[in-house]
Amino acid sequence: MDSSLSYILNELGEEREHYYNAVTPPIFQTSNFAFESVEKFREAISNELDNYIYTRGTNPTVAILRKKIAALEGTEDALIFSSGSAAISMTIMNSVKQGDHVICVRNPYSWTSSILKKYLSRFGVEHTFVDATRVENIIAVAKPNTKLLFLESPCTFTYELQDLEACAKIAKERGWRTAIDNSYASPLFQQPAKFGIDIVIHSASKYLNGHSDVVGGVVCSSRTIIQDLFSNEYMTFGAIMSPNDAFLMLRSLRSLPIRMERISNSTKYIVEKLKQHPQIEKVLYPFDPDFPQYELAKKQMTGCSGLFTIAIKAPDIESVIRKVNAIRKWKIAVSWGGHEALMMPLATFYNIPGRDNPAQPWNYVRFSVGFEDPQYLLDDLYQALEK
Ligand SMILES: *Cc1c(COP(=O)(O)O)cnc(C)c1O
Repeated sequence: MDSSLSYILNELGEEREHYYNAVTPPIFQTSNFAFESVEKFREAISNELDNYIYTRGTNPTVAILRKKIAALEGTEDALIFSSGSAAISMTIMNSVKQGDHVICVRNPYSWTSSILKKYLSRFGVEHTFVDATRVENIIAVAKPNTKLLFLESPCTFTYELQDLEACAKIAKERGWRTAIDNSYASPLFQQPAKFGIDIVIHSASKYLNGHSDVVGGVVCSSRTIIQDLFSNEYMTFGAIMSPNDAFLMLRSLRSLPIRMERISNSTKYIVEKLKQHPQIEKVLYPFDPDFPQYELAKKQMTGCSGLFTIAIKAPDIESVIRKVNAIRKWKIAVSWGGHEALMMPLATFYNIPGRDNPAQPWNYVRFSVGFEDPQYLLDDLYQALEK
């Protein structure tokens, strides 16, 4: 099979001869599929993953997406979920049973932490969060009942990395499964399966879809793991992507390389300029030579995407908030990876009644670069920082 990016994004999985050679696939907006005979029906039922029976299982529009996503990550198969959070939760649930133990990176995505802390603990699944920047730390918290090592590299606020090759190695030696949230890098800049990671997950709401108009998630893995996930959590919980959203995502995927190139270049430009600004204490960005894990980032990532964090020089939280409020072109919002520049000031999460303050300082602001002209975005930050 041709494994080039162009082939994957333009040809792979498309069965144009079945739909009048339309270059763009139709949205198969159907819940079920009919059969000519009992024999044909029985044949399909005996292999639900490869046949179209009911859209909670498989659907032709979603299937095109499945094939392309698996190929992008270099895995045998993939499943598409209704959200990144569903993809993560289903993967963790599929990997453990009562009495098992999960090791997870410290400060993962908030709902990853939630499935372990608030939910699976009710079912007798233990977990340990660990500073996984060093493999020794992971080994130190291992237990005889450890079954899953859950990674997120880079993390999406302060960008800690894990050495994927080393993690895969220690996990294989101990019989653990490994899974990673690869949303930050996108499959273009990091393919964890190449380093031996078993399961690769994305919030497709970020770069894979990239237009801030679809919420979705993907899980990429071996055929064996995907088959098991499909027959259990996927079909049971039914957190599937609709054919309509799959169509939007297919459209988005066509431009993934162009989008990532633009975002990556703009971000590099903006980070380099900001580093020299007197109002900025520091910039966190994995491809910045001063980043603590710069060498590792360069080793396992072929590019860096559009998230970075700055620490603003300010005497108190109010002056940070004043500066952030003066920024006009970057919108205050959750999420990231879309067409539009966004920012997430950590000051927002300070002093909320009934909630703990964040682990990182109040002068941290995370930015997500969109498709805008980088100078337009930079000028806006300059005017606000000078306020
Ligand atoms: C957004 C996000 C998720 C969750 O994805 P949803 O599609 O919003 O459910 C998971 N991991 C990371 C790193 C994210 O940024």
